[in-house]
Amino acid sequence: MRPIQMVDLKAQYQSIKKTVDTAILDCIESGAFINGPQVKNFKAHLEDYLAVDTVIPCANGTDALQIALMGLGLQPGDEVIVPTFTYVATAEVIGLLQLTPVMVDVDPDTFNVTAALIEPLITNKTKAIVPVHLFGQSADMEPILALAKKHKLYVVEDNAQAIGADYTFSDGRVEKTGTLGDIGTTSFYPSKNLGAYGDGGAIFTQNEGLGKHLQMIASHGQNKRYYHQCIGVNSRLDSIQAAVLDIKLVQLDAYAAARQAVAAVYDQAFESIEGVQTPVRQHNSTHVFHQYTLKVPADKRAALQVYLKGKGIPSMIYYPVPLNEQEAFKGIIDTSKRSFPVTEQLCQEVLSLPIHTEMDAEQLAFITTTFCAFFE
Ligand SMILES: *Cc1c(COP(=O)(O)O)cnc(C)c1O
Repeated sequence: MRPIQMVDLKAQYQSIKKTVDTAILDCIESGAFINGPQVKNFKAHLEDYLAVDTVIPCANGTDALQIALMGLGLQPGDEVIVPTFTYVATAEVIGLLQLTPVMVDVDPDTFNVTAALIEPLITNKTKAIVPVHLFGQSADMEPILALAKKHKLYVVEDNAQAIGADYTFSDGRVEKTGTLGDIGTTSFYPSKNLGAYGDGGAIFTQNEGLGKHLQMIASHGQNKRYYHQCIGVNSRLDSIQAAVLDIKLVQLDAYAAARQAVAAVYDQAFESIEGVQTPVRQHNSTHVFHQYTLKVPADKRAALQVYLKGKGIPSMIYYPVPLNEQEAFKGIIDTSKRSFPVTEQLCQEVLSLPIHTEMDAEQLAFITTTFCAFFE
């Protein structure tokens, strides 16, 4: 049996090696390492795939979030609502821009924020909401968008883990996550569902004017070379990364299907284990399974991880610490009168198992049998 990994980038590379090698060599031979035709092509293809007006490729997913927030013209002290159960980047950029992160607990089944959890936190200083489509499933966006409209708030979707997921509105309209709010962002970190061979990210918007503004911020605030309209940043996607991503974008739906097939096998194997909760599927979102995350009994999790590791099965805890408890946010957030019971519990109970596009039947059978044996 091939060794089991959380993500097997090497095996995936083997399946596209010829095309990728040629594209990378072409790029090197052309010498157009920055802003080459590969970047324009990938941008156009991703705009088509997402059915979105503007895609702005940039250097990584954290930059994408930062540029998105810079594009909204917020003032220091403005409040931005963000989940406390997410990767640090989502809240970090809010602090970096001297905005105030207001952390919100999440739903215990979907791990995502909901309109009902957000609403009580809205004050006259609130300017934006940053929902995260955690682990590959959309937050329930229709009520969140309605709430944002009612209170005139911007919505920036952190879509780093859910690129390719569909959200279905109550009128039957189906749209891609990341294109539902004012701005969406994603990461092309190698292990993400659409991963580069290095760092990368992108910003999406349906608003053409906002798209131009965000493009300008990502490029030193210039609208014309050497003419700078505002303070921006330098955040670009390399031509080589764009070439790789353009090849992988064609496979993205097949990659999602491969992940979903792994998840289906896991679901069936684990659904009757007492005390273990398999991922809850939302009726109005597809799940692209960036992670396959179970809830297991808190008092058994550490032993389970050690046991799995002993059998050659890696597992990970996303995330072990609620963001509100991170040292970095002390003094930035006021959580004195608030509690985050769901996030606290999730941090004790979640466990993510290997899931990727190249898992074979033998590996899957071994993982499921081994996992189940622990609970017998
Ligand atoms: C990966 C990730 C990011 C950051 O992306 P980078 O490319 O690593 O900067 C932000 N938010 C979430 C939810 C992520 O998973």
